Amino acid sequence: MLPCSRKRLNLPPIGFRKESTGSFTLGLGEDPLSLEKRLACTAGTRPSESHESASTIHPVCGGAGSRLVAGVMLNHPWTVETLIEGGALQASVSLARNDEEVVLIDSGYPRQEKQLLDALAQHGLTARSVTHVVNTHLHFDHSQNNHLFSRARIVCSRREFEWMTDLCDRLTSDSLTLEQIYKYYPELKSFEDDPKVVWAMVKVVQRFWSVERLGRREQFLWLEDWVSPDGMKAIHTPGHVPFHYSYSFETRAGAVLVAGDAMVTRGDADQNTMTFPPTRRAEYEETKKKLLGFEGTIVPGHDALFTLTALKHEEARRAEK
Ligand SMILES: [Zn+2]
Repeated sequence: MLPCSRKRLNLPPIGFRKESTGSFTLGLGEDPLSLEKRLACTAGTRPSESHESASTIHPVCGGAGSRLVAGVMLNHPWTVETLIEGGALQASVSLARNDEEVVLIDSGYPRQEKQLLDALAQHGLTARSVTHVVNTHLHFDHSQNNHLFSRARIVCSRREFEWMTDLCDRLTSDSLTLEQIYKYYPELKSFEDDPKVVWAMVKVVQRFWSVERLGRREQFLWLEDWVSPDGMKAIHTPGHVPFHYSYSFETRAGAVLVAGDAMVTRGDADQNTMTFPPTRRAEYEETKKKLLGFEGTIVPGHDALFTLTALKHEEARRAEK
């Protein structure tokens, strides 16, 4: 059970069942980086090879070849499928493919190794088939199977990597104090009257987080330096954590947005999921509201995918009852 103070403040539960979770934030504020210019790359553009290293790792991206689909020219149109459906206890893992790339968006938490590999096998793929693992952010329920994909490039925000690894270093330190935690998650100060909640969160992070499971350092391509494949776009979606990114894909059936925890659930049921609280709740709500204007299919971080049209029908049906 969550303490009353948590309910009163309308914050989502944190951590996994029976245990609470924790994490922290530097309070770094707005992300000044505009990805729009960089992501408006032309088809076939190859990014700098400066981050290439192990020859066994898949090449980055690029190539040519366009198809005219419903009057729109799509270079390498994507298909996006759900590998693991998001729910109260697990994060969404999505598979985006085109004729050149096999991209996994997020990788789940440690106990999902088999589930993830089985889901890939059902799509005729193995871990070696995956060319990129893209992390919306690095909370342990989204990132702790990256290491299974030893040939893939791992893409995430460098600032998110620094923020999260610094946070988790502190969480696992013997000299950890509440003040250090509040530096990362200032809104957790509301629990000063019941620090047991925060310490329970710390315990869960200590149990599930491992920096090694994020993959080898030479596999990483920082989002800030990366030119994404044609038809794929990174969108800065802060609030859940400061450097959270969601990803949109152009498919033959329209656009798909893999929102990650920028939209924990499609509606107002965030509280029913075992996720981390936002570092800044107002910013999270603002981001979520913007994403709900996305024209296409949306994959939330802890909910099944949906389209706004379907959601409107659902609401209309409920209103009729
Ligand atoms: Zn998260």
